[in-house]
Amino acid sequence: MKKTLIILAALAALIAVSAALVYNTTTGQDAVFKRAAGMVMGRDVEIFDGLRVVVCGSASPLGNDPNRAQACIAVVTPDHFFLFDVGARSPTRIAQAQLPMQRIGGVFLTHFHSDHIAALPDVSMTSWIQGRPGRLQVFGPPGVETVVEGFNTAYQLDRGYRTAHHGSDLLSPDRAAMQAHPFTPGDVVWEDASMKVTSFLVEHPPIEPAVGYRVDYRGRSVVISGDTNAADNLFVAARNADLLFHDALSRTLLDQMIEVATEASVPIMPTIMTDVIDYHADAKTLPEAADAAGVKQLVFYHMVPVPANALASKMFLRDLPDSIILASDLQTFDLPPDSNKIIISQP
Ligand SMILES: [Zn+2]
Ligand SMILES: [Zn+2]
Repeated sequence: MKKTLIILAALAALIAVSAALVYNTTTGQDAVFKRAAGMVMGRDVEIFDGLRVVVCGSASPLGNDPNRAQACIAVVTPDHFFLFDVGARSPTRIAQAQLPMQRIGGVFLTHFHSDHIAALPDVSMTSWIQGRPGRLQVFGPPGVETVVEGFNTAYQLDRGYRTAHHGSDLLSPDRAAMQAHPFTPGDVVWEDASMKVTSFLVEHPPIEPAVGYRVDYRGRSVVISGDTNAADNLFVAARNADLLFHDALSRTLLDQMIEVATEASVPIMPTIMTDVIDYHADAKTLPEAADAAGVKQLVFYHMVPVPANALASKMFLRDLPDSIILASDLQTFDLPPDSNKIIISQP
């Protein structure tokens, strides 16, 4: 016993001395910094051979949780990288997840509420600077041209500064501005030999049209709802999907927030919070419909309100099946090809 204690004490002392050497010597600092910078610059990123889905934003605008960015889901395979909505703060998550911005194939927008589009210019600029070979392709229902044209105009001067500074060989103006691709809801929006992205109409009145997307890749599938009530059309599109990311509203939490705001005479908010009830899916209506559609895993994202701690998360899931997952930022879902496996990880 005494011998073990002596060994443990010696080990602890050794670790303390090593740590001191690393943090208090210039060579130690440089080695750790270089290693970390290499990781940040993507040198150590493994490429998963299958369909990888990364949560780059799980929040709705209602609530304030610094650990959650607004709506963003990334889909990555060895040959594809797409973003579905790019809400505020999602670029931070994209960088943390070391997603391959240089090979981004496009952004798919579900609708044009600010919490789904605010980070478009950042995604465009960052991927351009990291070597995106062409213009950033932005897919969306009619209206996407207006959004893209507006952001392109707002960032026109910035694009000019960057080309002037780094040279047009490195940052060609031809690749700089975004390009809009409007489509009719229901269309197959993107397709190659191994992947298909299909759009479908959802219900988010008065926003018309608003869409969701289904991605199919080598026998695996993920469906992303965008903002919607529980819509029959969505569950038809989600038939036998492996993963369904659905926006979800918790009456348990929201009703109490409305009550508190009303009692405290907070201006405007009780009405705003009451108004959102009619255009987001009540969480309680989703599990049965997802089950009936043969969805293998239901994941709530774009949560209304944002559950900012463990207590609120527990309340969000009150009276719901244990199998439901509340998405958290940077959570990763790996779907190996032609399999039933869903491997979930959280850094
Ligand atoms: Zn919306
Ligand atoms: Zn939204």
